[in-house]
This record gives sequence, C-alpha cells and structure tokens, in this order.
Amino acid sequence: MKSTIHVATKQAYDVIVGQDLLDEVGQDIIKICPTASKAFVISDSNVASLYLDKIIASLRNSNLETAVYVFEAGEESKNSDTYIAILQAMASNFLTRTDVVVSLGGGVCSDMAGFAAATFLRGIDVIHVSTSLLGQVDASIGGKTGIDLPNGKNLVGAFWQPKLVVIDTNTLETLPREQIIEGMAEVIKYALIMDAVLYDLLKNTNLDEIITNPQLRYEMVRQCVLDKTDVVVSDEFDNGRKQILNFGHTIGHVLEKMSDFKLSHGRAVAKGMSIVLNASRKEGLCDAATNDNGIDLIKAYELSVEDDTSSELLAQGAMSDKKKRGGTVSLVVVSSIGEAKIVKKSIDELEAFLEARKEC
Ligand code: NAD
Repeated sequence: MKSTIHVATKQAYDVIVGQDLLDEVGQDIIKICPTASKAFVISDSNVASLYLDKIIASLRNSNLETAVYVFEAGEESKNSDTYIAILQAMASNFLTRTDVVVSLGGGVCSDMAGFAAATFLRGIDVIHVSTSLLGQVDASIGGKTGIDLPNGKNLVGAFWQPKLVVIDTNTLETLPREQIIEGMAEVIKYALIMDAVLYDLLKNTNLDEIITNPQLRYEMVRQCVLDKTDVVVSDEFDNGRKQILNFGHTIGHVLEKMSDFKLSHGRAVAKGMSIVLNASRKEGLCDAATNDNGIDLIKAYELSVEDDTSSELLAQGAMSDKKKRGGTVSLVVVSSIGEAKIVKKSIDELEAFLEARKEC
C-alpha cells in the first residue's frame, strides 16, 4: 500500500504515505535531490534505536555518504542548545548546499531539523521521514519549523518546505499507546472540521483496531494527509482557511499553559474541542446531535473531556494567546460534522460563551 500526495504550493513537494517505506528512502532522495552526495540524518534517541540502521543502509545503498546527529528524545530537547549543536555537527561534517538533511522522528525532530536546514548555509534541502502519529498527520506537512525558548513554545522558527515527506505508517507499531492517543486528538479534529468520511471511519472502528490493523492505520493517516494538504494548498496566500486547523487549540493552549504543560498537547486539544462543542450547542452554533457525536468520538479514543476550568481564566488566557486580533479572539466552531466556521468574540463574549458550556 502506497500513495503519493502532491502538495501543490509554490514550492511543491510530494508526501509518500505507505507501509514499509524505510528501505526506499535512499532511492526517493536521489530522485528528488540528484546532486546530493551526503545525507545528514537527525533523529531522537528513541527513534534512532529503532529505525536509524535501516535508514542509513538505505541511504548508503543509494551511494549517499551519511552523517548522524541524535538528540535526547522529548520536547525538552527542542531548544537553542540542541539547535546550535546540530548546526555545529553539520559544519563539522562539511555539509554543503547541495547535500540534504533527513529528519527521522516525530514533530520535535522535524521542527528542529527543518529549522536547522532552513538556516544552515542560508538554507539546504530537508526530507522528513515522520514516525509519530502527530508528525505524520500534522507536523511534517506545511513547512513550519522551529524551536522553543524558555519564554514559550515555538517562538523561533522559519517557514521551510521539505523537498519530500515520507510517512511509513508501519513505524506507528512501535509508538507508545499514549502517543497514539495524543495524535488521535488531531485526527479527530480533521474529522470534525472538514472530513465526514474520516468521521465515519473513526466512528466505525476503535483505538485498538487502529493500533493493530496496519491497513486501517494507513487509510486513516492518508486521509489526514489529504486533509492537511488541502488546507495548506488552499490557503497558501493566507486567505484565512487554515485557521480552521486551530479548532480546539485556542482553548487547548490555555489549558496546557495553565497546567504548566503537565497536560499534554493532544489531551489539551481534546478538552479544548469538547469545551467549544458544548458551548456552541448552547449558543445555537451547532445542533445537539453534532455536539453529542463530537464529544462521543473524543471520548471513544480515550481522550478525557472532563473540565472544571474557570471561564474567566480561559477567556483571559485566550486573549493573550497569539490568535487575538484587535481585541477579539477568532474561535473555530464546528457547525455540523465535517464543517467548521470562524466566529469572533470579544473577551466578555468569549467568557459568556464558555460559561454556557457548563449548562450542557
Ligand atoms: P515527539 O517528536 O517528541 O515524539 C513523541 C515521542 O514519541 C518521543 O518520545 C519520540 O521519541 C517517540 N517516537 C516517535 N516516533 C516513534 C516510533 N515510531 N516508535 C517509538 N517511539 C516514537 O513529539 P510529537 O508528538 O511527534 O510532536 C510534537 C511536536 O510537534 C511539538 O514540538 C509541536 O510543537 C510540534 N508540532 C509542529 C507542527 C508543525 O506544523 N510544524 C504541528 C504540530 C506539532
């Protein structure tokens, strides 16, 4: 099973989604970067121990020289120290502008490797080989790269499109269950905001089947890649459509920060989606069935919808988040399954809107 999805932005590239693709990465790279003589592979400690040997063998089989940088797995590594260490390793390995960087890992790896590639020698090619569910359905596509600062997440970065994205959905076999659940929050988001077919697929299966059935996993990830690609391509010139991808995130980010990041991103987004769904029903922005179906789907994938957060604190937090414009917050709401729209709220309106969820 394999399909190639073309991302037809100005700097176009392909996303190859399939099963057992790692042995072919070398050939794929040579096709797309024929002048490359060296591949600089960046990976984290968990993923490297599982898949690095395979990738290196594939690159060498395609006559590419290889060099490797492995960082300690986890968001804590997505910082300026690791970024500088990566750049220094690139320089020590005499990487040139015709060579390529290969990220092998989840979203932390593609964000940091993408940023290093965007800035080393003012920009060299990067290929993402994505291995986490969040990476496969979201982080590896769209060209956003960056690192965290002590002041906040993703504060430094660049837009840098990959030359190719390789998504081997069989790598999800080794992804811990909790990471699958976290990634499912983004998968559910696509289903609710834009993809009723994906909604049906998710509704008619369950977490265990997704974890154990390779064909199903492939189909689900492929559908999400099509969704993200659709949004990225249709909003290349910033007409605002990609804002729909923020569904659950505006409130989710506030919950994440309020918990001092003890609540994970995926779980925070799930709560954010459920809060907005409940509030939308009360305000007549969606009907009861949409609300119930959305909440049931979130719960079915072992994501908690419990919340007793103060509406005032949520509204204040959302106002200080980066999505506010001119004293209003843009909030994505789901009007029916597979359809989203954006509503603008002042801080008082937002607080009242959020408070109404408690009557649900
Ligand atoms: P991650 O890269 O840290 O991966 C999560 C964990 O899973 C890590 O411990 C990793 O080692 C492990 N892992 C990954 N693949 C594995 C596999 N196949 N088998 C076993 N273990 C594996 O985090 P993530 O959840 O993939 O991504 C989160 C990051 O992505 C955040 O930093 C976030 O800001 C970023 N992100 C970026 C974008 C974007 O558009 N650039 C979008 C969403 C998220």
